[in-house]
Amino acid sequence: MLQLVEAGMDIARLNFSHADHATHEKSLNTVREINKEHGTRIAILQDLQGPKIRIGDLKEDVKIKEGQIITLRSDIRVQEDDEFLPVQYNTIAKDVKVGDPILIDDGKVECVVLETNNRNLVKLQVIAGDVIMSRKGVNLPQTVITEPTITEKDFRDIEFAIKHGVEWLALSFVRSADDIKLLKELIRLKNGVSRIIAKIEKPEALRNLDEIIQVSDAIMVARGDLGVEIPMEEVPAWQKRIVKKCNLAGKPVIVATQMMESMITNKRPTRSEASDVANALVDGADAVMLSAETSTGRYPIDVVSSMNRILSSVEKEEEGIYYRNMDQLPENAEPTSSAIITTACQLAKGADAKAILAMTRSGYTANQLSRCRPKSLIFAFTNDPLLLTTLNLVWGVKPFFYDQFVSTDDTITDCQSILQEKGLIEADDVVVNTGSMPLHEHGLTNMLKISRVKAKHV
Ligand code: PGA
Ligand code: MN
Repeated sequence: MLQLVEAGMDIARLNFSHADHATHEKSLNTVREINKEHGTRIAILQDLQGPKIRIGDLKEDVKIKEGQIITLRSDIRVQEDDEFLPVQYNTIAKDVKVGDPILIDDGKVECVVLETNNRNLVKLQVIAGDVIMSRKGVNLPQTVITEPTITEKDFRDIEFAIKHGVEWLALSFVRSADDIKLLKELIRLKNGVSRIIAKIEKPEALRNLDEIIQVSDAIMVARGDLGVEIPMEEVPAWQKRIVKKCNLAGKPVIVATQMMESMITNKRPTRSEASDVANALVDGADAVMLSAETSTGRYPIDVVSSMNRILSSVEKEEEGIYYRNMDQLPENAEPTSSAIITTACQLAKGADAKAILAMTRSGYTANQLSRCRPKSLIFAFTNDPLLLTTLNLVWGVKPFFYDQFVSTDDTITDCQSILQEKGLIEADDVVVNTGSMPLHEHGLTNMLKISRVKAKHV
């Protein structure tokens, strides 16, 4: 794990579609021990399975042929005979209509509904594919699924997030803003701290995209399932559309799945994978995610360092990623603070500032600075230790702890000294400061100052 961190990992995803709580707890503790020992800020992203439908346990792999008819059965978990294949979705027979497509194993097996008994059996005609294996995922892109987005298993897993103060909690197969609101309410009622990521991987989520972005704390472009639920050729354009909307709103956005797929078995990525990672960053992704590459792949460390090298190179060479979204304030944003923050970025650009220093209590200012993608470094000071790790998801933001509230002047001098001591800024650098005056009111960002760093008296 330490090698992964040293190679460039910023966030550790615990995938609750797999493994038990004890296993995840061990990973979580390892990450937090590393943070303590090495001063790193690695955040935990707990990924809830949501209503992911799976084939149950089969006696053995089932070989199928085009044109063949197979029957799914929802009231068994383990295969009993050759006639029925178990499927883990209680109301499948009620929800499907004749003609609905059913895709198994990321779309490798394609079927269509021939008949349902409205109770527990669904007869399918195989259109393509050759083998069905235990526990493979099942997608029903055109079926209205009556199962709630937050399942019984998710409720148990949410307890884990609350108990461990997990920074980011992602919900799979989100369909509407209400799914996110409900999850937020559950967290709030139990005094949880987790911020919520909506995974966009259903056609319904695309239809409700604006409202979902509005209520979520961050978004994931979950290309794996999305590319089965909608035609795969439509995923690239959706990736760009989703990322752009998130950038404008100032919500962190993750691009996920198959980014470095060939490195599951190869030591080097393909050129197209390198381009995919680079293009996600150019689109405006805050983070790029690895799945099998690091969980079961052969070269987890190499894949993280390769990805890191690609990203660093793009940030050095591609000027086009900087200073964006400055001509538009986010919809429903707090107008005065958003205007100040956007102006801070414009000022930083005009004055070629080395850094923007910001005070942030909720993380809002940090998010809003990041949405303008300044080329200047973003240093966010906060007195909330949890925010230090949480903000690690946000593009370009380097968080620092600061809890002195004497005066605005003192704060500015203190923060600059901290950065000077760490060698992050030096005498004569131009820096832009944002904050809130008067300090003791802890209000929204309303202050903007530009200055040249003075030589430090030793
Ligand atoms: P998953 O989500 O890996 O949890 O399925 C990401 C995706 O679907 O792309
Ligand atoms: Mn998924």
